[in-house]
Amino acid sequence: STKELCIHLTELHAKSLLNDNDTFLFDCDGVLWNFPHIFTGAVELLNYLTEQGKRLFFVTNNSTTTQDDYAKRFNDIGYKAKPEQIICTAWLTAKHLKSINFKGKCYVLGMQSMKYELEREGFQICGGIGPDPLPSDSNAVTVDKLELEKDVDCVILAFDLHISYIKILKAATYLNRPNVLFIATNDDARHPQNDEIVKPGTGSILASVVIASCRSPTILGKPHAPMFDAIRLAFPDVDPKRTVMIGDQVETDIAFGNRQGTTTLLVFSRATREKYLDTLKQQVEKHTAERDLLPHFCVKDVEQFLQFLKS
Ligand code: PLP
Ligand code: CA
Repeated sequence: STKELCIHLTELHAKSLLNDNDTFLFDCDGVLWNFPHIFTGAVELLNYLTEQGKRLFFVTNNSTTTQDDYAKRFNDIGYKAKPEQIICTAWLTAKHLKSINFKGKCYVLGMQSMKYELEREGFQICGGIGPDPLPSDSNAVTVDKLELEKDVDCVILAFDLHISYIKILKAATYLNRPNVLFIATNDDARHPQNDEIVKPGTGSILASVVIASCRSPTILGKPHAPMFDAIRLAFPDVDPKRTVMIGDQVETDIAFGNRQGTTTLLVFSRATREKYLDTLKQQVEKHTAERDLLPHFCVKDVEQFLQFLKS
């Protein structure tokens, strides 16, 4: 039954969440802000939980920012964050490569943040960051004469505003060689912040490389396990049974928290409206949707959560 799921949070529930847990994982976009707009109560909630002795982490699939970028953002808005509290996918990629004792060169479809975090851990990058344009008079023959790197040991796929045919071609070509690893930061289909524009997410770019290469990647971000593994490796005393995951998307945040054994709290947003959750609940009852998409609790927003905690 889904009766014990999607419970609308009350003061009592909020207080139990506080008493029964010591770690809080926050998704960022849609929960704390629609950047640059910071939600009312967000900073106050983070400071309140910290004053109550709770440990906070920020788990974001966004691969275009570094740990330091996010730490600065938090400090600018009034919450003193240490870089190690930021679990972003650029940092996660570097940690993952380190954990598998990777040595070699990476072709990286991604932004400067990827280069920064990978080089900080000592990894070598051989192309892929930034634009890789073809001359405007290019044709199929030009493409055949492309210069390729000789030694590539890993293809990393992150969010890339400069994605192009030539980059997909290079990624697929490197992946066609034996023993080349394939890693993706995340597989979000879309970025849901905007009502008018559909913004393709990393998953949309990833799909083109998966199809061209006939390979499937290790995916690091939510809802996949490596995101949690990295937290556990850095902070071995984090106990999922005493952890709350707070997010606004069922497919990434809530599935992530549920699969890792945390308590999950959904905050309604443009990504997930209350109506959508009701529909999903019906689908789960009919076994046409997965149960781990449903949160234990839901609440209007972080302001409401804070009010319940403090009342
Ligand atoms: N990836 C990119 C490039 C983004 O810009 C965003 C949100 O803005 C995301 C992923 C999703 O981030 P989050 O996991 O914090 O919702
Ligand atoms: Ca989000």
